[in-house]
Amino acid sequence: MAQRILLDMIKLRSVMAEDPTIALPECYFHDSSAMNSFKSIRELAAFRFSCRRCEDAPCISVCPADALDKDAEGIITRHTNLCISCKSCVTICPFGTMMTDFFTHRRNRDLFYDLSNKKELELFIEACPPGVASLTEADESPAENIYRLNDKVLVKEYLYSTEKP
Ligand code: SF4
Ligand code: SF4
Repeated sequence: MAQRILLDMIKLRSVMAEDPTIALPECYFHDSSAMNSFKSIRELAAFRFSCRRCEDAPCISVCPADALDKDAEGIITRHTNLCISCKSCVTICPFGTMMTDFFTHRRNRDLFYDLSNKKELELFIEACPPGVASLTEADESPAENIYRLNDKVLVKEYLYSTEKP
């Protein structure tokens, strides 16, 4: 059965709250057209799971570079080629969805773990804070706050939803 990587964003936040110097190591998938290679999984997960999907999204209005957009599902996308890292969106977001570490310029692929490579995947898991990344054969499990980010990545996160339970 195919293994997926499970990233526990809830655990990561608690580790980062104790030690702000800790961050999720950068990683990408070499062969995925669905992922923006130079965007962190943390950013993708924040827009997918934590963003409140504001109707008149102030982050989009304030962006001086037209770098933010909503996709068909209402999920915010940041066009890294347009973003000038001014962080106006971080300041204006009333829910703290965006973190300043999203805007680090990443131009050297050698600084990233290629998660499509088995060895680099193992090294990435070792480099993560303990308990944050693991391999699993399980699929998403909303009862455990585990959701699919894509075919290869599961994220454990509290899901923001406007739907009534
Ligand atoms: S940091 Fe980037 S996305 Fe955010 S407002 Fe500035 S240009 Fe737009
Ligand atoms: S302002 Fe914040 S919560 Fe609202 S759409 Fe933008 S990122 Fe999401």
